[in-house]
Amino acid sequence: MVEEFAFDNTEERRKTRQNGGTGWIEVIVGSMFSGKSEELIRRLRRAQIARQKVQVFKPKIDDRYSIEQIASHSGMTHISKPVMTAKELMAQIEDDTQVVGIDEGQFFDMEIVEAVNKLASDGRRVIVAGLDQDYLGRPFEPMPQLLSVAEFITKTHAICVKCGNTANYSQRTSDSTERVEVGASDKYEARCRQCFVPHSDAPTAV
Ligand code: ADP
Ligand code: ZN
Repeated sequence: MVEEFAFDNTEERRKTRQNGGTGWIEVIVGSMFSGKSEELIRRLRRAQIARQKVQVFKPKIDDRYSIEQIASHSGMTHISKPVMTAKELMAQIEDDTQVVGIDEGQFFDMEIVEAVNKLASDGRRVIVAGLDQDYLGRPFEPMPQLLSVAEFITKTHAICVKCGNTANYSQRTSDSTERVEVGASDKYEARCRQCFVPHSDAPTAV
C-alpha cells in the first residue's frame, strides 16, 4: 500500500513559539518528486505569514540554476538567491534574518554543515531540503552530515512510477554517469526498492 504522509503543524507551531531563544536545524530529505521543495516552500510561507524575516538560498551549479527562485515539480515557487558556496551563503545573511531556507542541499560543499550549525547557534531557524541518495542509491554528501546535526528530520516519499508503492529512490533514465546531472522527469523517475535498478543503463519506464 502507498503511504500518504500528512504533515501536521503541531510541531511547527511549538517550534515557532520557541523563536527568540536558540535556533535549530530542520532537514527535509527524500528522493526526487517526493515533495521536498513543496514542504520547504510550505514552511517558508508560514514563517512569512508569521511576519518572520526569511532568506532562501540554492546552489548555483550551472546556468539553469541561476534563476532567482526555487520551484517544486508541482509548480510552487519561492524567491531565492543562487550562491556558489557555503561561504557565499553566509556572507549574504542579514542581521535580522530569523529563518534561513536552503534547497538542493546535496549540491553544497561540506562547509555547509558548519555554516548551518552557526546559523542555528546564532538563534536562527534553518530549514534544509535535499536528496539523501544519488542515482545509484549512495548517501549524497553533505546531506548525511546535515541529518546528523539537525534537531528535526522529515523524510518525504514519492510514488513508484512502476508499481505505485512508496518510492525511496531516484532512478536515472538517461545514460549519464555523472553524479550531478541536473534534470527532472526527462532524466529521472521515482522508484521503490523493488523496482529501482541501480545502474546507469537501467531501462526506462514504458
Ligand atoms: P522534490 O523537491 O522532492 O523533487 P517537489 O516538491 O519538487 O519534489 O515535487 C513534488 C510533486 O511532484 C508532487 O506533489 C507531484 O505533483 C509531483 N510528482 C511527479 N511525479 C511524482 C511521483 N512519482 N510521486 C509523487 N509525486 C510526483
Ligand atoms: Zn515499485
